[in-house]
Amino acid sequence: MKKDKILVIGACGQIGVELTLALRKMYGESNVLASDLREEHDLLKGTGPYVSLDVMNKEMLHVLVIRHNITQIYLLAAILSATGEKNPLLAWHINMQSLLNVLDIAKEEHLDKVYWPSSIAVFGPNSPMQETPQHTIIEPTTIYGISKFAGERWCEYYNHRYGVDVRSLRYPGLISYKSAPGGGTTDYAVEIFHEAKENKKYTSFLSENTYLPMMYMPDAIRATIELMEADASKISIRSAYNLSAMSFSPKEIAAEIKKHIPDFTISYEPDYRQQIADGWPNSMDDTQARTDWGWKPEYDLAKMTKDMLDHI
Ligand code: NAD
Repeated sequence: MKKDKILVIGACGQIGVELTLALRKMYGESNVLASDLREEHDLLKGTGPYVSLDVMNKEMLHVLVIRHNITQIYLLAAILSATGEKNPLLAWHINMQSLLNVLDIAKEEHLDKVYWPSSIAVFGPNSPMQETPQHTIIEPTTIYGISKFAGERWCEYYNHRYGVDVRSLRYPGLISYKSAPGGGTTDYAVEIFHEAKENKKYTSFLSENTYLPMMYMPDAIRATIELMEADASKISIRSAYNLSAMSFSPKEIAAEIKKHIPDFTISYEPDYRQQIADGWPNSMDDTQARTDWGWKPEYDLAKMTKDMLDHI
């Protein structure tokens, strides 16, 4: 039997660090090669092999895949929603070309599996906002959402046309304490914990009643691994699965934090990210993920808040 050899691209980001550590526990540290443009993240040091890689350099990527006998790629490198709006053409270029490089090498080298995350950002103002279904109007208005939607179509295309076993999740906003978020519209839900602990106050860049779908990182990591471990016959969606855990507003998360830090206060100064958030769903329907491969979240707002405050 062929041994699994995994390459994680974008391993030093908010998701990459925790996903790499989880994969190393499962597959053995030497079987998970971490890579990023950045210097190796402190939490990864000494936990397994690391290489510096620009995913835009297809030749280098191809050589790396052959040299290390890679069988699976997790592609996490991307320009996120808020950063993408500052330089749309760059975001489009990086988000699309990185995926095409990986899909094409997966096809050429007959890789076993590819993982690439999509986002709730594929939805737009014309999508139903509550319990947004898997299949519905998809008219993203940010360049990030446009690139994720196009990416979903490419994934399905490479699966149907060339048999590439690519799998994807539409992550909600992800909350974590180990590595910092990378320029997304839901970053407030991470910043608020740090500010609550350090200064007992926070100014939110989203307005008080802006509801967004959110998920605690341990759930996101488990969802990713469960999807990738599922038998291929169970994967009916080859674009990207809706994935859900909780939905809350800045006002609600502040109230939850106040239960632990009574003198915490919040104020609101919405900026350009408010418009991005206003076009996204309030909550997601992830029935398909639950039915196909048994997805079930563990963390709600109360449980996540306690865990974040315990660890920061
Ligand atoms: P992040 O910005 O924290 O990390 C991305 C990493 O990719 C960074 O370490 C960066 O240095 C690296 N990178 C950028 N360009 C690269 C290149 N050319 N070559 C190699 N590495 C490069 O992002 P994240 O939050 O960890 O997100 C990972 C994936 O999950 C992205 O596709 C993102 O769109 C998706 N996602 C994230 C969230 C979230 O809330 N964090 C939500 C939905 C979807």
